[in-house]
Amino acid sequence: MNYLQIEKASVANGKGIRTVLWVSGCSLHCKGCQNPESWDFNAGKPFDDKAKQELFCYLENPYIQGITFSGGHPLDYKNAYAIYELILEIKEKYPQKDIWLYTGYSLTYEDFYSHPLSWMVSGEETKINILQMCDVVVDGEFREELRDTTLPFRGSSNQRLIDVKKTIDNKKIILFKV
Ligand code: SF4
Repeated sequence: MNYLQIEKASVANGKGIRTVLWVSGCSLHCKGCQNPESWDFNAGKPFDDKAKQELFCYLENPYIQGITFSGGHPLDYKNAYAIYELILEIKEKYPQKDIWLYTGYSLTYEDFYSHPLSWMVSGEETKINILQMCDVVVDGEFREELRDTTLPFRGSSNQRLIDVKKTIDNKKIILFKV
């Protein structure tokens, strides 16, 4: 996985002061996307151990509430497994930090409940659900005709801030209250 930027402290990409990982690559190509330079999976630099240590160093700060994954598209096929492994590590090292993730996919309740992603690991199919590992997921493609700059943490009104725990508990999509 490549990344474009690690932003140490942002207040525009989720609640509180957050570190943001902007990953490279998105195959959705929404019309009016603010970040078309992020579509190329080869843009930026490899997310190597040095980059990971930089990210962890920022997360050590007590004023950082959590991490946000944005891009590009963190759930695109070339990025999703690396994001999964990174979230596992962050949850173990920093269990008090919350996790937000932006996806261009429009989600249903079932996507949080079932296992929409699977990989062959050591010859075995491994089913995982990255969505279940997050606290808030912002879903939906950016739609230019629904652009609304007054909405917190999203660009168009079709996009939703989904409260993952409440969605799983209630077996229907529950929105996160800002
Ligand atoms: S999902 Fe995000 S990065 Fe990808 S094209 Fe749409 S707005 Fe741009």
